Amino acid sequence: MNIAELKEDLISYSKTIGIDKIGFTTASTFDGLRNRLVKQQELNYQSGFEEPDIEKRVNPSLLLDRPQSIISIALAYPTKMSKRVTSKKGERRGIFCRASWGEDYHYVLKDRLNKLEAYLQEKVPDVQLKSMVDTGELSDRAVAERAGIGWSGKNCSIITPEFGSYVYLGETITNIPFETDEPMEDRCGSCNKCIDACPTGALVQGGQLDAKRCIAFLTQTKGFLAEEFRVELGNRIYGCDTCQTVCPENKGKDFHFHKEMEPEPEVVKPLLKPILHLSNREFKDKFGSLSGSWRGKKPIQRNAIIALAHFKDETAIEDLTILLTSDPRPVIRGTAAWSLGKIGGDGAKTALQHAIDMEQDEEVRVEITKGLQLIEE
Ligand code: SF4
Ligand code: SF4
Repeated sequence: MNIAELKEDLISYSKTIGIDKIGFTTASTFDGLRNRLVKQQELNYQSGFEEPDIEKRVNPSLLLDRPQSIISIALAYPTKMSKRVTSKKGERRGIFCRASWGEDYHYVLKDRLNKLEAYLQEKVPDVQLKSMVDTGELSDRAVAERAGIGWSGKNCSIITPEFGSYVYLGETITNIPFETDEPMEDRCGSCNKCIDACPTGALVQGGQLDAKRCIAFLTQTKGFLAEEFRVELGNRIYGCDTCQTVCPENKGKDFHFHKEMEPEPEVVKPLLKPILHLSNREFKDKFGSLSGSWRGKKPIQRNAIIALAHFKDETAIEDLTILLTSDPRPVIRGTAAWSLGKIGGDGAKTALQHAIDMEQDEEVRVEITKGLQLIEE
């Protein structure tokens, strides 16, 4: 087997199956990442969604027997919708981040990686392979950085010169000793735009992310959001794009290479009020194909309630009052109480005064009291 030729063939093949960039790196341990993860753990910056065993995240030989190289792939995703829908008074809309537009990218990337695997299996029948996307043990970003896909920006994204940071990443560990590619030079330089723009101060100098302050993570949690984060959420109902949209490397980047990734505006920028009353079935029908639905409807509904407060949407008072008085979930009742307080007015005040007499849950009572105080202020 001529490995150099196989690499060239694989690169050519990857272009025919909708892989926008491909790179190769060694299967040695990711020592720089290990140090970063240990530091992150010490500082309590993890989200809790990541693989808890740091060694598995940095050592490919714990994932495949005698690995020799890792293939990293990138697919560019769109950043603009072809059809516009507008958020207007009485018909306010929330927004899913761009990485959640279209079909769940885990499936799209898995499809491309399966094709790469099949191609290699045909050429090298005894090849050993292990592929992963996002939820696997390895860090997609660390692999992509070392494979020369892009550099790791201060916004903690991989930035490619061709597509900016609007790329999905995945990888395959192999036992074929492919020649490796060179990592790219860091081009952030003295720019700090992403750090300055982050609404919650989640980006720490030196490329660290305090995930517990990051809105992208917070929108996926299920409990009460701390008030300091509620006021920064804006109309984001899933994820946050701010540190990418401000990045000069992303200026003008908008690629529509993959039909699966095309956003449906009514789904990714949905009206907020109808979200409040969705049944599980309706939620699944409308949002189930998005990666942003993976935590179920509760976080999306909670975020929609917060977004209505952000807009001070008085037309939502009736809907929020229904939630406050009859939703079985304390997080939803309590957040609705806070939102009513933010929106204010006589209707909101009456609803809160009525609810305080009926409410049994201590946390919700605190939120109702807070709501009444907000109105008084
Ligand atoms: Fe900050 Fe949003 Fe970027 Fe998170 S995703 S680091 S909250 S700008
Ligand atoms: Fe780097 Fe500036 Fe982009 Fe941040 S905004 S990732 S510092 S180029």
